[in-house]
Amino acid sequence: MISIQHVSKWYGDFQVLTDCTTDVKKGEVVVVCGPSGSGKSTLIKTVNALEPFQKGDIIVDGISVGDPKTNLPKLRSRVGMVFQHFELFPHLSITENPAIAQIKVLGRSRDEAMAKGLKLLERVGLKAHADKFPGQLSGGQQQRVAIARALAMDPIAMLFDEPTSALDPEMVNEVLDVMVELAQEGMTMMCVTHEMGFARRVANRVIFMDRGCIVEDCATEEFFGNINARSERARQFLSKIL
Ligand code: ADP
Ligand code: MG
Repeated sequence: MISIQHVSKWYGDFQVLTDCTTDVKKGEVVVVCGPSGSGKSTLIKTVNALEPFQKGDIIVDGISVGDPKTNLPKLRSRVGMVFQHFELFPHLSITENPAIAQIKVLGRSRDEAMAKGLKLLERVGLKAHADKFPGQLSGGQQQRVAIARALAMDPIAMLFDEPTSALDPEMVNEVLDVMVELAQEGMTMMCVTHEMGFARRVANRVIFMDRGCIVEDCATEEFFGNINARSERARQFLSKIL
């Protein structure tokens, strides 16, 4: 579903990604972890073309992200992305938030888009709040709206960039629960997160990044099962968060 092939990226002289290669199969859940500044956000943003890269290519469902002829807005609309800071539209209700891109990008009627928005709010447990605005909700609720909004586009894969790191601790699980459900329903997911409980529970693979490189890319059981076999950097990192 997502094939990242020898991707390198520079910001001016600074190389932020170095020869990154990995594949995410349909239905697979991959957790990306690593120290701050290691390039995790940059890597997943390259997948839906929010960040350009200078070398290598990424193939998403058969479409080359690096090919200048590729229709990037169309590609972006098929790959859902959820950020640390929810980035909801503050002036739209939480039913309109998941509806707007369906109308503007997919050409759905307002009725159809609102009905789908409402259905997705129900799925993330927020139907009772359907008429509220983002500012009237807690952080955990807002993040669940952001997930509903991404799902409204019928994405072929979902990218998460530290979706729970800006939340108060008591709200982390309500967001992780929605992500676990999605994973169990077979959604293809790439999740930057340091929630290792989530990783153990649903991830098929764990990628560890350091200084722009993918240093570890292995099955979840292998990653956690034999920490001593991991690289020095990964062990140091894990010793701090486990
Ligand atoms: P992570 O998500 O792992 O914390 P990022 O992908 O956000 O890491 O950033 C990787 C590196 O790239 C960091 O050193 C960061 O300072 C740098 N960086 C990120 N965005 C930019 C930018 N727009 N211009 C220059 N450097 C950037
Ligand atoms: Mg980041």
